[in-house]
Amino acid sequence: MKRIAVIGAGIGGIALASNHDVVVFEKGRGVGGRMASRYAHAFSFDHGAQYFTVRDPAFAALLAPALAAGAVAPWTGSIARIADGIMTDLAEPRDRHLVGVPNMNSAVKALADGLDVRLGVEIAPLRGHTRQGRHLTSTDGVDHGLFDWVVSTTTAHQTMALFANNAPNEGALCATKMAPCYALMLGFAEPIELPWIAARVSGSPIDWIGINSTKPGRDTSCTTLVIHSTSHWAQARLGQDIELLGVELAQALHQATGIDPDLAVFRAIHRWASARRLPQPNSRPYIDPLRQLAATGDWTSGSRVEDTVLSALDLADSIERE
Ligand SMILES: Cc1cc2nc3c(=O)[nH]c(=O)nc-3n(C[C@H](O)[C@H](O)[C@H](O)COP(=O)(O)OP(=O)(O)OC[C@H]3O[C@@H](n4cnc5c(N)ncnc54)[C@H](O)[C@@H]3O)c2cc1C
Repeated sequence: MKRIAVIGAGIGGIALASNHDVVVFEKGRGVGGRMASRYAHAFSFDHGAQYFTVRDPAFAALLAPALAAGAVAPWTGSIARIADGIMTDLAEPRDRHLVGVPNMNSAVKALADGLDVRLGVEIAPLRGHTRQGRHLTSTDGVDHGLFDWVVSTTTAHQTMALFANNAPNEGALCATKMAPCYALMLGFAEPIELPWIAARVSGSPIDWIGINSTKPGRDTSCTTLVIHSTSHWAQARLGQDIELLGVELAQALHQATGIDPDLAVFRAIHRWASARRLPQPNSRPYIDPLRQLAATGDWTSGSRVEDTVLSALDLADSIERE
């Protein structure tokens, strides 16, 4: 049997591991990656991915047990379009929007159930491999053993750093550029009545407003908002004082919706350095049968959860055939 190590316990790494006998290494304290959730005081926020769609039967099959167990559920309601402070549209989405319950990362936790996931292990750049395999070492110097295949599901940039001398010189893995995003989280002690669960915003530093507390399984006695900046706005402000950027986004929220951000009793801001890939042609996952190295992620076919999962399943099949 092949000994396979997967680096990264986001949805891609966990989807890949579901088909194999593998060990998953994750530098964070929990699984989920960018399907992230933060808990603060009485509030919880999904400050990364907001929802996901399931169009492909392979993803539907993978997700079926989590849906049946209630760890994934539809997020229903109307989505507004707000342009220059005016609501121009209010409609139910065409596709079903799914979320983790009670938090976005619960979806990944459910898929990871029963897998060998080692948390808090940051894998160091790889060294060469021998006929016996390749040793994986973490940045604290601990040796995690020999593996036949090493698969990175980290971002393209992180994968290039991990593969070090073994990295390819051309192809999508090298060429991918990611865009940043700032996520402002606001917690209000009272419910705020709005006709929408989320809004797509234009003519503003804000791209998206999600009313987190309208998702299934959340506390509805309060209101939690997740506000995502546009990539363009974030890119132009990288390195600036993050708290001041939070103030700017809060003002933009007021201009777009009339919601008074000063009524929030909790405020935090998070910077996603690599939120989504910039437009580029789609590619297959990376696989090097000679070095027994492979990589997948949202750099292959799009920055959506479903794209990431389908690429991971594609790569799992390719490794199986090797
Ligand atoms: C702000 C934002 C909003 C988004 N909104 C949506 C949305 O609404 N709908 C949607 O479908 N998608 C959305 N996405 C995209 C979606 O979140 C991603 O496409 C998907 O979660 C990527 O999963 P992944 O497993 O490929 O990578 P990640 O989730 O990034 O997982 C990679 C993991 O690798 C770990 N790692 C990195 N380096 C190491 C190392 N050296 N050793 C060990 N572990 C390591 C990281 O800690 C991380 O957990 C959004 C993303 C962001 C940031």
